[in-house]
Formats: sequence, C-alpha cells, structure tokens
Amino acid sequence: MGKLDVAILRYLTGEDFRVLTAVEMGMKNHELVPGSLVASIANLRHGGVHKLMKELCKHRLLTYERGKHYDGYRLTNAGYDYLALKALTNRKVIASFGNQIGVGKESNIYTVADEDRNPLCLKLHRLGRTCFRNIKDKRDYHAHRNRASWLYLSRISATKEFAYMKALYDRDFPVPKPIDFNRHCVVMQLVTGGPLTHVASVADPEGLYDELMNLIVRLGNCGVIHGDFNEFNIMIDEDNHPIIIDFPQMVSTSHPNAELYFDRDVRCVREFFKKRFGYESDLYPKFSDLERDDELDTEIACSGYKRTRDVDNELLEQMGIGLQVSDDEEESDDDQETEANTKMTEQDLDELRKEVDASIQNDERPIHQITSKTVN
Ligand code: ADP
Ligand code: MG
Repeated sequence: MGKLDVAILRYLTGEDFRVLTAVEMGMKNHELVPGSLVASIANLRHGGVHKLMKELCKHRLLTYERGKHYDGYRLTNAGYDYLALKALTNRKVIASFGNQIGVGKESNIYTVADEDRNPLCLKLHRLGRTCFRNIKDKRDYHAHRNRASWLYLSRISATKEFAYMKALYDRDFPVPKPIDFNRHCVVMQLVTGGPLTHVASVADPEGLYDELMNLIVRLGNCGVIHGDFNEFNIMIDEDNHPIIIDFPQMVSTSHPNAELYFDRDVRCVREFFKKRFGYESDLYPKFSDLERDDELDTEIACSGYKRTRDVDNELLEQMGIGLQVSDDEEESDDDQETEANTKMTEQDLDELRKEVDASIQNDERPIHQITSKTVN
C-alpha cells in the first residue's frame, strides 16, 4: 500500500474503534476471532457489533475468514494502521497527512503535520510482511503463527525504536526528537537534509568521519550499539552534521555478539568513506576501547532482548518454531487452538474486556504523560 487511506479516520465512530480494538485483543490468542467473542469483549451497550463488523469488512479494516476449525475476523494491515493513526489524531499528535517519503525494508515513512502545521515524520513499522509471501505453500498452521506475529513484531519494533530514540535524545545524541508512538507507529521530528548515501562529496571528510566514529564510541560508552550504522541510517542535516535514525535493532554492549556488531558498524563507516570520498584512516575505534559510563541498555531493558530483525529472520528460517521473546505476554498458542471460543472462561473474557478498556483509555491519554520507560 502506497498512500494511507486517511479519509476513513474522519467518519468511523468511537464504537467502530472499540470493535477494532476488541478484535486486536482477541488476536492475542486467536488467529481468527469469532464474532461472538468480539461482541462479548467489545461490550457495547446497545449491541449491534455484528453489523459494525460487517461495515468494517467493507472498508477492509477487518476480514472475515474461514479457518480450519472455525471462522472469524482478523485485523488487516489497514485496520491496524487505522487504530494507531486514529489514536495519534485523537491525542492531537498529528492533524494531517502528507506524502510517503521512504520505504525501508521494514517500514513506510510519511510526512505528517501537527495542528500548527509543523511537519513531522511518521514511521510505520511493518515486520513480518515478507512472511506472507514465503509461507503461501506451507501448512495452515505455520501461516497462522506468522500472520498473528506481524502485529506483535511491528509493535515491539516501534516501541523499542521510540524508547531508544527518547533515551538518546535525552542524552543529547543527534537523533530526531521523538514525539509519540502508538502500536506500530512512531512520530518524530522530520529531519531536513537527506541520508548520507545521497551525499556525493563533503568539504571535510575527516571531520565527518571523526564525528561518526565518536558517535559510535559515545553510544558504546552508554552501553549500546546501533547495529545498522550505515549510509542509509545516517542523515546529513543542512549544517553537514550527522543525525542518526533507525533504532529497533540496537543491542547492548553486553550482548554475546556485541563486539561483532560493534566492529561491523565501524567497518560500515570506514568502507563507505573509502568508496565514496576516497578517505581512509588508520584511526578507528575498537570494542576494547569502550569505557562504560552509562546504563542506557538496562534503562531500555535491551540487554536480554533478541534483535527484532533476528527474531523476524528466525521466523522466516524456522517457520513454525515459536517466538522466544522473554517478555512476551501474548505468545500465540494457536497450535492447540481448536474451538478457541469455548475454551475462554468468564474470567478470561473479563480480562480481555478490561484490556480493551485500558487500551482505549491509553489511546485517549494526553501526549505529555509518555515516558521513555513505556516499553511494552
Ligand atoms: P527502515 O527501518 O525501514 O530502514 P528508516 O528509519 O531507516 O527505516 O527510514 C527509512 C528512510 O526514511 C531513511 O533512509 C530516510 O531517508 C527516511 N527517514 C526516516 N526517518 C526520517 C526522519 N525523521 N526525517 C526524515 N527522513 C526520514
Ligand atoms: Mg534504515
């Protein structure tokens, strides 16, 4: 999907939002969420949930599908986008939408604006999309596992990105100012200028090289490694200074492979400067040079985390072997899922109803209550 269909944000109601949120919650442990379950956890005063779901299917925010054991609804990409964008508009973080300015491997980037028409950058994380293509001919079961995980992976990726950006911004690192996030969407300052890969020549390659290497070391001393420190993730602003972007894959310097990731980041810069600017230097940082002076990694709790992209790659490689994410509160158990609806106790349902209420409350909360520790 290229352009976001944002017209829909205007005419869907609070009840539609609640129904979609109920499907989202249901998808935590159901690949397909039975209509009766949606109705039960959406808990609308006047009922009518089935009619609303039918309308939402027409708008392609939901699909109704036949499963092996039972039929039900699931959120589409557009449905998930809608929930996040509606929440961000309700919170008055964004007021209008512009053009798509980038397509990454795992994201779509748009310009947006706030109520005062200040331009901002919106990043939609889209992990697990590639899974769809690769699993076409696999068994239903595998398809289900992976389809359920894109919500989870994309949300984790955005949450981690926001948390890192906030922690780095608070420490005066040159990163875009983080504004807010919701589900798989991050809103941040729009960087003027362009990625280093678009820069044909610089007046002072040595100066820029030193600046980038110093950044790698400063990050390392805080306990983190960018992990993808290349010419696509280094923006050059109007004053020819670097601004670093793209953080979901950041790792702790305590990670077992930390030195490898550190050396790779350093090598990326060296090789690019040699190739593009003909600049080479014997001076470059080594992992053993690092002198830890901050605990950014533990603040974000990234040390034990697997890199999001690795988790995703593992999904592709080991198709069907479950997610091994330690903090997972929503590990899907659809391998045992038969008549999922009947297995839910009244207590389970009550939990889900509360989660729907909490989620809607969170989506309506004013922006200033957000902290960097809101990971997961
Ligand atoms: P991915 O994880 O998919 O690589 P990135 O965060 O690297 O996504 O963003 C992809 C591209 O979008 C970048 O190379 C850059 O050109 C553009 N971009 C990303 N963030 C911003 C921003 N804050 N301001 C301006 N352009 C951006
Ligand atoms: Mg990138």
